[in-house]
Amino acid sequence: MEELKERILAEGSVMSNDVLKLDALLNHQVDPQLIMRMGKEFADLYRTEGVTKVVTVESSGIPVAFTTAFELGVPLVFARRKKTLLADPDSLIERVPSFTKGIVTDIMLSRQFVTENDRILFIDDIIANGDAARGMIRIIERSGATLVGVGIVIEKCFQSGAQAIRDQNIRLDSLVKITSLQDGQITFG
Ligand code: 5GP
Repeated sequence: MEELKERILAEGSVMSNDVLKLDALLNHQVDPQLIMRMGKEFADLYRTEGVTKVVTVESSGIPVAFTTAFELGVPLVFARRKKTLLADPDSLIERVPSFTKGIVTDIMLSRQFVTENDRILFIDDIIANGDAARGMIRIIERSGATLVGVGIVIEKCFQSGAQAIRDQNIRLDSLVKITSLQDGQITFG
């Protein structure tokens, strides 16, 4: 998505060889028009796949998952992050390390909203090592639903997450691929 590459160059900042700060675009402020166009891109990729629900993890995945769900005309379900959890038989929970926060959080989805009859499109903002996506994929598998694919706004190709998911024969589409952040330079794939 060329428009998104231009916005990343203009508004992103390279924090290290691994981390791109995108508060102006994805993680703190969002441009609703741009997020609408991202949702349309994902919806166009999956329009014929019989998606019944879009799923994401709070919080940065929610805007683009919302516009994707809006375009597809299906509900959005966002997994919630919980610090402490009481055992709840109605919830599916996975423990996930957070790439940016350096902590471990539990992500939780109620069985009420994702069932074995669902065909799920999982949308998220950025993929690095793939821990968040792996946790979400395990939850979707445990729900009995079918995972149709994974849509990621920004894939950092120099980290292993996206490839590991494709190696599991799961379809993964990204709107922008970043191959390097070395020396403060953003290089697109
Ligand atoms: P993963 O679990 O794939 O290692 O990391 C995914 C999550 O960490 C994303 O949902 C995103 O919020 C955050 N993240 C990973 N890498 C970056 C990055 O370079 N910049 C920002 N802003 N967030 C990142």
